[in-house]
Amino acid sequence: MAVAVELTHVTKAFDTTLAVNDVSLKIEPGECFFLLGPSGCGKTTFLRILAGFYQPDAGELRFDNAVMNTIPPHQRNTGMVFQNYALWPHMTVAENIEYGLTLRKLAKTERQQKIAEVLDMVQMAEYGNRPVNTLSGGQQQRIALARALVIEPSVLLLDEPISNLDAALRQHMRDEVKQIHSRTNITTFYVTHDQVDALSMADRMAIMQDGVLVQVGTPREVYQFPKNTFVASFIGETNFIPGRVLNVSNGSTTIETPVGVLQSETVYHDLAPGAQVQCSIRPEAIHLGELQAKNRVTAKVAAVNYLGRMEEYQLVAAGIPLKAVHYDPGTEAKRPGDTVELAISAEAVIPLLD
Ligand code: ATP
Repeated sequence: MAVAVELTHVTKAFDTTLAVNDVSLKIEPGECFFLLGPSGCGKTTFLRILAGFYQPDAGELRFDNAVMNTIPPHQRNTGMVFQNYALWPHMTVAENIEYGLTLRKLAKTERQQKIAEVLDMVQMAEYGNRPVNTLSGGQQQRIALARALVIEPSVLLLDEPISNLDAALRQHMRDEVKQIHSRTNITTFYVTHDQVDALSMADRMAIMQDGVLVQVGTPREVYQFPKNTFVASFIGETNFIPGRVLNVSNGSTTIETPVGVLQSETVYHDLAPGAQVQCSIRPEAIHLGELQAKNRVTAKVAAVNYLGRMEEYQLVAAGIPLKAVHYDPGTEAKRPGDTVELAISAEAVIPLLD
């Protein structure tokens, strides 16, 4: 049975640095949960608290109803996969995987059966007798995953597991980890600074900044409704247009900006007239041309990058640089220096408070 992982007001400090600052979070049983944030925000510290390498200074960590604060790592039944694989180079693939089973005192035949099953799961069935140092990076990472999974952990902890792999292999491993997760249904906690990993794999994700969870939600919620400017720019690309709220009524906000008055219909902060905001607008929400939309902005094309399946426009409106992306580039490209009319829907304008 998958377990729930729950943190209540968990804090961990190093001298004066609050690496994890009053974090409360419940990860549901069987959930694939991602922790995402820039370097130094506290991700590794968070993961180490779950694994038992650090004890919280304050607060409580529970796996289901069991308080885990002082339980040592080897008694937590967590499986861990590290960025650098951390396999034993002098052992074969099977010996690496067998280690955790031997510690658990399983009989030889049962060990062999479990090793065969897990190698099959990571598509490395024929590799049992190979020394691990003869495997490629991607293959080693699969063995690290197999070693973590074979003990049937209550919680699977992954620390940047695919960031050492090249782009094509990363994509492949994303699909594989996703498939393995849906087959095993193990509660999974995955730490990364890579937004593509998180957006494409997470059931839910948390964005961490300076030890604090600034937003928790599904990838769609976080991308479409970022809570603040940090989240909006950290997850995906965005444009910011500064402005001042003129008027709020019936779910619609009117904002005065240097590019003209903008209408927003995506408002989930309490905004009062006079509030200073940054309007976040994703590049794919800025359309060039005659489309119907509540907002129209005049801009000049600064540069055009044709990228095959899409086209990127660098634009400038009232001195503010804007980026637009079109996934269906027409045959008639705009040129640098052209003046263009931009169409932006009211739903695509997200006024953020900081
Ligand atoms: P990265 O993505 O670069 O690995 P991170 O998000 O995992 O970063 P942490 O390693 O958790 O961040 O570090 C969070 C903060 O705590 C940083 O300011 C770091 O310098 C500090 N820190 C982490 N471990 C220790 C330690 N053992 N002693 C002192 N300070 C530490």
